Amino acid sequence: MSTDRIAKYVRPEIQALHAYQVGKADNLIKLDNMENPYDWDESVKQGWLASMQAAPLNRYPDPEATGLQAKLREVMNIPADVGLLLGNGSDELIQLICMALSKPGATLLSVTPAFVMYKMTAIFTGMQYSGVDLKDDFSLNLDVILAEINNTQPAVIFVAYPNNPTGNLFDEEDVCKIIEASPGLVVIDEAYYAFADASFDKYLSRYDNMIVMRTVSKMGLAGLRLGYMMGNPDWINEFNKVRMPFNINCLTQLSVEFALENVEMFNRQTQQLCKNRELLFSEMKKIPRIKCYPTKTNFILFRTDPGQATRIFDGIKKSGVLIKNLTINGGALTDCLRVTIGKEDQNAAFLKALQESL
Ligand code: PMP
Repeated sequence: MSTDRIAKYVRPEIQALHAYQVGKADNLIKLDNMENPYDWDESVKQGWLASMQAAPLNRYPDPEATGLQAKLREVMNIPADVGLLLGNGSDELIQLICMALSKPGATLLSVTPAFVMYKMTAIFTGMQYSGVDLKDDFSLNLDVILAEINNTQPAVIFVAYPNNPTGNLFDEEDVCKIIEASPGLVVIDEAYYAFADASFDKYLSRYDNMIVMRTVSKMGLAGLRLGYMMGNPDWINEFNKVRMPFNINCLTQLSVEFALENVEMFNRQTQQLCKNRELLFSEMKKIPRIKCYPTKTNFILFRTDPGQATRIFDGIKKSGVLIKNLTINGGALTDCLRVTIGKEDQNAAFLKALQESL
């Protein structure tokens, strides 16, 4: 029987997991997954389609993605002495880092709540996981983190800056203290960089145990799956060894390169989303019986009255808007929902649905 074999051979910690679930959006307004809702300008779309005609689909892609790497360095101002590595989304980069660092007994340390894939990937790769609770306002509990670093001597610490799902930026000095106290590597995950107006890239020359990781997903290219990490070339060299040779397919290489040539369009959309965020935040703040958390991302986390989150989530969905129900994660996220910033009319539809569902 397969079930017996599975029980015998699949690692028990994998058997205990549930696969990552994404809600079905069908005909709903999709505000659940931090995507950019805006279309491309028609001329840009036509240029992209024309560039796709030359895609050599019969060939394996360039394993080093040379053209794309050069474009990223140019557009993102990545100096030549900083190492650069590309992944199939930053999800894959998290996996590469863990694969390389998962010596028996090695620990991955992060905060709770944080991006769920840190813990998941620690489990996938057989690492120990330690999550230090954030304070009630979702700021870092620095003393507890420093004590935990001392106790567990983590091989790697993941800090999302700003954090998902809480949306806030941690105190910069606190993060520096964590990097300075860390015996191993610290990954600063800047997935929401485009919305944050803050980065640790200025510290790349100061800290050689720090990697800065980003993605093009949130700026509007989630479907292409491209993440990149920057840091000391010696670390990058080690992570490159565990990368599958053709991890960035040729359509992604060409499309992101093309998109970066039109980066102003994405910057414009990002700026618009930041404006939409401020407007939505100020409107949500006026609503009694919910508490909104400050955000430097393209989403807003908010807390409902106790025990009401799932009812409100369902009500909003019935009105045609899909957001994310986080109360099921428990802990500090009990009673919490998260909405991604959309276009003006989508945000208005969400606000109306929220008010009617409270
Ligand atoms: N890091 C953080 C903090 C995220 O929120 C996400 C996506 N939700 C990722 C990494 C993964 O991004 P991607 O794989 O799309 O590059």
